[in-house]
Amino acid sequence: MDTLEEQKSSLAGKQLTRREALDRRKRINRYKKILIWTCVIAILIPIIMCVFLLMKIHRLEKDIDNLLTMKESGQIVAQTDSTGGRYLVLVKDVDENERTTENITEKATEGSTEEVTQVPSEVVTQPVTKDEYTGKRAYLTFDDGPSENTIPILDTLNRYNVPATFFVIGKMDEQSKKLYKEIVDRGSTIGLHSFSHQYGSLYASVENFSADLAKIHDLVKETTGKDIKLFRFPGGSATTTNTVDIREIIKYLNTNGYKYVDWNVSSEDATGRNISPDEMARMVISQSLSCNSAYILMHDAKGKESTVQSLPAIIEELQANGYKFCAIDETTDKLVQQVKASEVQ
Ligand code: ZN
Repeated sequence: MDTLEEQKSSLAGKQLTRREALDRRKRINRYKKILIWTCVIAILIPIIMCVFLLMKIHRLEKDIDNLLTMKESGQIVAQTDSTGGRYLVLVKDVDENERTTENITEKATEGSTEEVTQVPSEVVTQPVTKDEYTGKRAYLTFDDGPSENTIPILDTLNRYNVPATFFVIGKMDEQSKKLYKEIVDRGSTIGLHSFSHQYGSLYASVENFSADLAKIHDLVKETTGKDIKLFRFPGGSATTTNTVDIREIIKYLNTNGYKYVDWNVSSEDATGRNISPDEMARMVISQSLSCNSAYILMHDAKGKESTVQSLPAIIEELQANGYKFCAIDETTDKLVQQVKASEVQ
């Protein structure tokens, strides 16, 4: 009897131990799952956040690029109000004598003492030139090249037998060196647009500026044989990203026999917006028709195919309206300048 009881008790004990072991295993499995999921979440969250931040950085970089190109094309300018607050201002409509503006964003800089170059009315150009032509003139200008779009532009210019001016930057590859010469050989003129096109270093000091200018001057001289003394500021002469006073640089240009030119018509091909060739042509034509001398800002950098395609309509329409297409050089009279060189001593 005793033995049977003992056996029963022993069996019950064993069953209890097995259940406990089962429970323990379940508990361990549960802990394992919790641990695995914690690890997965701990890895996934930083990855997702990194991807999100990278996308945000990419978007911001594009915004900065767009703002810089808009600034360069004269679409936005920086201004200060009476309290010292600094604004970016969108230039909606460019006229020879007047700019209408609309605030697009405000950056609070309370107490800022930074001086901002004011944008004066653009110089009204008169068609008084060396060839005594007294009619309306159109000056096509292409900045930031040369690139793969330079030859298609030259082809179009040659087809219509009109010249243009290419404000070139520094490129050291053999193909680009040939393009500098090709521009000149095919009847257009070259202007210098800085070697680096880097606002930060270019405008950091007069010394930086003059070293950069010498570099692009010498490269163009070496490749074309031309001693070019025509310049266009990246961002225009009213650019406000300068660390150095732009008038100091203008004084340097005056002293060294350089002329510089801005623009009074913008194709808006540097805004980052996807503008169709038709729309671009319409904008250029309508702005040009209000100018006796239309200095047209365009770009022949990589990716400016719409600019290339807009050219025939621009040339045909402006010729139909009595405009003569001319190239700019150091002898061109009354160059359009937002900060007039003659007033900088
Ligand atoms: Zn440029």
